[in-house]
Amino acid sequence: MTENSLATMPVTTLRGVGTQLASKLARLGIATVQDLLFHLPLRYMDRTRITPIGALQPNSDVVIEGQLRGCDVVQGRRRSLMCRLQDHTGTVTLRFFHFSNAQRENLTRGGHLRCFGDVRRGRSGLELYHPEYQFLDQHQPPPLQPYLTAVYPAVEGISQARLRTVIEQALLLVSEDSLQELLPDSSELSLLESLQFIHKPPATAPMDQLLTGSHPAQQRLALEELLAHQLSLVQLRQQIQRHPAPSLGAGQALQQQFLTSLPFALTAAQLRVAADIMADLAKPHPMLRLVQGDVGSGKTVVAALAALQAVASGYQAAIMAPTEILAEQHRTNFQSWLEPLGIEVSLLTGKVKGKARERQLQMIGDGSARVVIGTHALFQEGVVFFRLGLTIVDEQHRFGVHQRLALREKGKGDVLPHQLIMTATPIPRTLAMSAYADLDCSTIDELPPGRTPVNTVVLAKNRRPEIIDHIRSACANGRQAYWVCTLIEESDVLEAQAAEATADELHLLLPELQIGLVHGRQKPAEKAATMERFKQGNIQLLVATTVIEVGVDVPNASLMIIEDPERLGLAQLHQLRGRVGRGKLESHCVLLYSPPLSKQGSERLSIMRQTNDGFRIAEKDLELRGPGEVLGTRQTGEMSLRIADLQRDSHLLPEVKRLARQLLETSPHTTNLIIQRWLGDGERYGQV
Ligand code: ADP
Ligand code: MG
Repeated sequence: MTENSLATMPVTTLRGVGTQLASKLARLGIATVQDLLFHLPLRYMDRTRITPIGALQPNSDVVIEGQLRGCDVVQGRRRSLMCRLQDHTGTVTLRFFHFSNAQRENLTRGGHLRCFGDVRRGRSGLELYHPEYQFLDQHQPPPLQPYLTAVYPAVEGISQARLRTVIEQALLLVSEDSLQELLPDSSELSLLESLQFIHKPPATAPMDQLLTGSHPAQQRLALEELLAHQLSLVQLRQQIQRHPAPSLGAGQALQQQFLTSLPFALTAAQLRVAADIMADLAKPHPMLRLVQGDVGSGKTVVAALAALQAVASGYQAAIMAPTEILAEQHRTNFQSWLEPLGIEVSLLTGKVKGKARERQLQMIGDGSARVVIGTHALFQEGVVFFRLGLTIVDEQHRFGVHQRLALREKGKGDVLPHQLIMTATPIPRTLAMSAYADLDCSTIDELPPGRTPVNTVVLAKNRRPEIIDHIRSACANGRQAYWVCTLIEESDVLEAQAAEATADELHLLLPELQIGLVHGRQKPAEKAATMERFKQGNIQLLVATTVIEVGVDVPNASLMIIEDPERLGLAQLHQLRGRVGRGKLESHCVLLYSPPLSKQGSERLSIMRQTNDGFRIAEKDLELRGPGEVLGTRQTGEMSLRIADLQRDSHLLPEVKRLARQLLETSPHTTNLIIQRWLGDGERYGQV
């Protein structure tokens, strides 16, 4: 039997698997016998030995045996059936909340039982809730399981026992021949040995290793799984780069003119990154470059330089921002920078409607708009570019891989635009591979000179009056401040209401100040007007929701109060805090929390106090919350792993990269087989 046949053999070829079970398995992404083999356990239970009742520990899965010593229906908060089971070391309670009359009669009759279940601390001491059980002939007990019992990811309507039986059948079918070893110079354990071990670890297997995923068999599979993802991303990159892209080689004169118009000189880091981009753009295949740079490192001017190169070469540049406010602000910046050079900048967001929208679409379509700024409205249907040569995605962490890919498709015909991705959320090394394997990377690792680090304090809400006083005196001295309202609910209506209420309250407490309000429910024009008045210094205190999180740039603002910061992620707090500390003034950020804080909550806030370094903050965030939360569900949703864990297995990444390079060079066919085996067709990263 060949690899191919297991991979194409439908599960219905197995004994006892009909169309009904097959459709349930399909919900788990299992269609073939090979898919069954790669449906890997989440954890294990030890049913290989009997635990003496006297030695039971809460929160463990056990097998026990004993004599029934009475069964009663008790009326507690919930009616339940309680049975006492005794062996020579002690007694324990079995508790059933659902039971039939027959079951009750059977158990009341007494006898010798073997039970499997989860031990908990209950009202009558240790209890097993709803254990599985069987009556035993005490003199001839059936043998115990010879293997540790795997617990699989399951869906409604398919029991663990059922899954175990079908996977067992798949294991019987497979042999060294049918399961091709795809890793070169493979380690001690073959793929087949690893799979057999993982589905059915022998009774003597080290449970602690298995539960932490550190057993060599698990590591062997994790390595191959990570390799599959890496290969898929690299393949995507290669597919993209096989397309032609316009070679954007002109622009030096225009760029020089732009640079001399700026009130500052670029930092060495900005120049270095700009040079990387210039070189990429001149090539006849698509650039795929990520620019990482902490909040305030000056990514926008670098983007402008890239846009100029596209424009000077006769193409359009599109810049996609994650929020309306940021898009508006980019428009303002780019207009003030580029219009003096005779370059038309246009704005397209979801809120540009009717005639105004038609006019924008017209200008984008006939090429009179050379630089187009927008939100994701930019890549909706009906937006047709004249000659799109470059797309720039700002604050990439807010977008998923798929949205990024959608923008690629806006080029004409076979030709793809160049792509520049910018992010302030430093991606910890451990995640960089997964999220960005398809990108080259440049880092702006230096802040413009003259910035003073933000001084952060963490205070409980009862200190609010002091903070109000502080705002009063800071604003009296010509400073400006942000007051940021956060809310747990994902509702911009409630969030807007909370911000309005706070603004009203602050009006009463600080009647001498001009106070402005921005939130997500306002019209773009209203938001833009308020932001502009704040920027001009006509508003001293700006009450805002997290809509101001990214990109907003008002250097005279030197004080930020964040209410209930414990509700936000560290990366988000870092972004928010990055709104201050942009000028020469000493800046402060007050994290005003509602006590009591959880232990993790106070740990997280104290990291904010200790460091301004976005990279350290991101690593800490990852440590405390895990990759899912840090990258956002959109992105991790695209990388669902069966056995590998990006953080736990990060030590495998160098080997993953080495193997990927080797395979791509020597054996493209194997590459496809590995991707197919682990990712199937559904989960592949976009096709071009
Ligand atoms: P971010 O990287 O967070 O997007 P911005 O591009 O918004 O940062 O830049 C932050 C601020 O720093 C802006 O006011 C920008 O004009 C200014 N800036 C950018 N580069 C320099 C520089 N080399 N020297 C001084 N100020 C700079
Ligand atoms: Mg920015």
